[in-house]
Amino acid sequence: MKLLEYEAKLLFADEGIKVPTGILVSKHEEILLPMDAIKGKVVVKAQVDVGGRGKAGGVLMADHDTVIATARQLFNTTIKGIPVQRILIEERLDIQHEYYVSITIDRARKQPVILFAETGGVDIEETAHEKKGAVRSVSFCPLLPDVPGFLLRELCGDAPSEIQKTVNRLYHVFCHKDALLAEINPLVTTPTGVYAADAKLIIDDNSLARQGIAVNRDLTGREREAEKHGFSFVELDGTIGVIGNGAGLTMATLDLIEYYGGRVADFLDVGGGADCERVMHAVRLVASVPSVKVIVVNLLGGITRCDEVARGIIASGVSVPVIVRIAGTNAEEGRKLLSLKGYEMLDTMDLVVKRAVEVVK
Ligand code: GDP
Ligand code: MN
Repeated sequence: MKLLEYEAKLLFADEGIKVPTGILVSKHEEILLPMDAIKGKVVVKAQVDVGGRGKAGGVLMADHDTVIATARQLFNTTIKGIPVQRILIEERLDIQHEYYVSITIDRARKQPVILFAETGGVDIEETAHEKKGAVRSVSFCPLLPDVPGFLLRELCGDAPSEIQKTVNRLYHVFCHKDALLAEINPLVTTPTGVYAADAKLIIDDNSLARQGIAVNRDLTGREREAEKHGFSFVELDGTIGVIGNGAGLTMATLDLIEYYGGRVADFLDVGGGADCERVMHAVRLVASVPSVKVIVVNLLGGITRCDEVARGIIASGVSVPVIVRIAGTNAEEGRKLLSLKGYEMLDTMDLVVKRAVEVVK
């Protein structure tokens, strides 16, 4: 789950990384701004989950006199289509230099990897692209509690030693928060020390419970509903809904749909041994995806009984057409039930997919 800048900054500060003093304000609360706390120059920052916020007009400069007008202006804009609900008003740092640092996992090496650039800031993508060697990287054994000193020196080059210390603190955040990404861009030097001017943190969804996060905000309402039923469910943006059992069969169904020129609306694996009720919930869930025009049910009966599957499909009572391929345990009985209700059934995965693509066309 992605955290917003102000949330990430709180966690960074817990590990000893300096962050600017700030005030979080929600929409329609400008009036409550503690104006006494805002003395000199400030930065007004939209708390929206988009990259390149600054360039998109989400980071504005203000001072004591203009902060309210600036906050209002930001609340009345959308940043890359996302309305601004919260803003962070921070003391403006007197930036001397902007660095870039990011920690993620190198899946090929199965190790954490730290990326560092001497020229950070809003143009880091271009810099990385145009200047070969501008972004340095090191990876190391994930069992080490700290980034080895020699690697920090190799990574940070001539940057002040406080920068190295901050990189190591960011590594602590990365480990302690079960992060998939921890990033500071820009990491800045100022006359009063090194600060994280921005903060990005993505927490591994598998660790949310351990991190005390009850609700995964990154999930859609439907994905959350699926989580309740224990379905593996991912919403996509096509028109053909998919329900399968087993990740392999479900993925293969998705691939085949795209192969025949269709666009899939979701991935839903009901899991093994699905009964009537589970199948019913699955069909209703997929049918509720607004873009869905037809649903392909591709289930292989092993411990799953196909008659139960059929009952579930019938019980769902959805108006979207459902095209079914069931094979294996009690398939004969299942087909009988479905044909009595007029459902379209085909014998192979290939046929059922081709038919669905035809239906949406
Ligand atoms: P992003 O565009 O979403 O990455 O937003 P950032 O928080 O990184 O801000 C974008 C840019 O605004 C930074 O690269 C800085 O150049 C500038 N900026 C942000 N905070 C400050 C600040 O406190 N003082 C100054 N002078 N510039 C800032
Ligand atoms: Mn940034």
